[in-house]
Amino acid sequence: MDYFNYKKNTLYAEDVDLNILAEKYGTPLYVYSLKTMTEHYKKIESAFSDIDKIICYSVKANSNIGILNEMKKLGSGFDIVSGGELYRVLKINANPKKIVYAGVGKTKQEIEYALKSNILMFNVESINELKIIDLVSKKLKKKAAVAIRINPDVNASTHEYITTGKKENKFGIDIVLAFNIFRIAKKLKHIDIKGIHIHIGSQITTVVPYIDAIVKITKFIKDLTTEDIIIEYLNIGGGLGVIYNEEKPATADEFAYAIKPYLANLNVKIILEPGRFIVGNAGILLTKVIYDKKGIKKNFLIVDAGMNDLIRPSLYGAFHKIIPVNLSAKEKMIYDIVGPICESGDFLGKERTLSESKEGDLLAIRSAGAYGFSMSSNYNSRLRCAEVLVKGNKHYLIRKRETYEDLIKLEKIIE
Ligand code: PLP
Repeated sequence: MDYFNYKKNTLYAEDVDLNILAEKYGTPLYVYSLKTMTEHYKKIESAFSDIDKIICYSVKANSNIGILNEMKKLGSGFDIVSGGELYRVLKINANPKKIVYAGVGKTKQEIEYALKSNILMFNVESINELKIIDLVSKKLKKKAAVAIRINPDVNASTHEYITTGKKENKFGIDIVLAFNIFRIAKKLKHIDIKGIHIHIGSQITTVVPYIDAIVKITKFIKDLTTEDIIIEYLNIGGGLGVIYNEEKPATADEFAYAIKPYLANLNVKIILEPGRFIVGNAGILLTKVIYDKKGIKKNFLIVDAGMNDLIRPSLYGAFHKIIPVNLSAKEKMIYDIVGPICESGDFLGKERTLSESKEGDLLAIRSAGAYGFSMSSNYNSRLRCAEVLVKGNKHYLIRKRETYEDLIKLEKIIE
């Protein structure tokens, strides 16, 4: 579900004609629909309305402060994974008591920054990290609230690069080793054990792996009581999938309906960390055809967006629908839609059927709101895109297009 629809033969973001946005802001351009992300946030909120919970939007999915601020207005907290993400959420005056901090490689400086900012808790991913948090909080004369991230060893049945809850993944602490870590944590004077965190992967389309993980964790929580360790929070992570093509992911309601019975007797507060589910379908990447190029084997549409703008197709072979902004009755052709970058892996879609297209035609790469701009780079010294947020018939520039000056402003020539 989203609010990018055709009116007559023209694609709109909510009530705004995408031709107008391309004209005003140039291309490539990320365009987000506020209504789409708001509705997705509310779907999760209402599916879990009868549960004591905190929704912590996962900043990595789309970290523009214009979007974070809208999430804050909806009541969301934040899941962060770096000092940079903490900086962003503090900039929008997020409530620190709704910030949780995961990531396998938190540095001492980042830990200190988070402790001084009074975040709700760290999601600790290793014994050495736990010891460092203890040391840093001792130095600050504080007690750090932590959840231990457990790797429950379940198969999330998603792309191997975005599976995080198998024992071969670097994330969390193996469930078989975790019990001992809790014992150690209990003895650390500057650590306050608050909870358990699991996040088993991303773009997960069924509830089964969540149930598998929660069942394992339920037993674990019971076992912990034998050590007088009481868990206050269970953070079940993010990972809910969205529709890119033909997927049929569980809806928020189906997800909640399936897992709530397993949470019912735990007597814990639940934390959810959705990212993609909220913003994935709420963004498109608007791009313009630079050249059409007919080869012997392939027809290419060379567009002004590349893998530096949207890396998901190149990195994971991810599929994004690509549709014209202006429908035409021209003959259908099969195209590879590729960027201008000097890599054969620089493609946005392969073997796509589109009406015959030419220089200047506008295309929309759908479902690009999550892990789109936030994973973009300056590769090939390309300027990162502008981002626009649409609200009804209004549009707001929430990030300017970079300039050539921006490209080199931190660099220096030595004498
Ligand atoms: N929580 C953690 C710890 C993550 O690592 C991620 C993504 O990798 C998320 C939440 C958000 O995942 P998604 O965008 O699939 O909801």
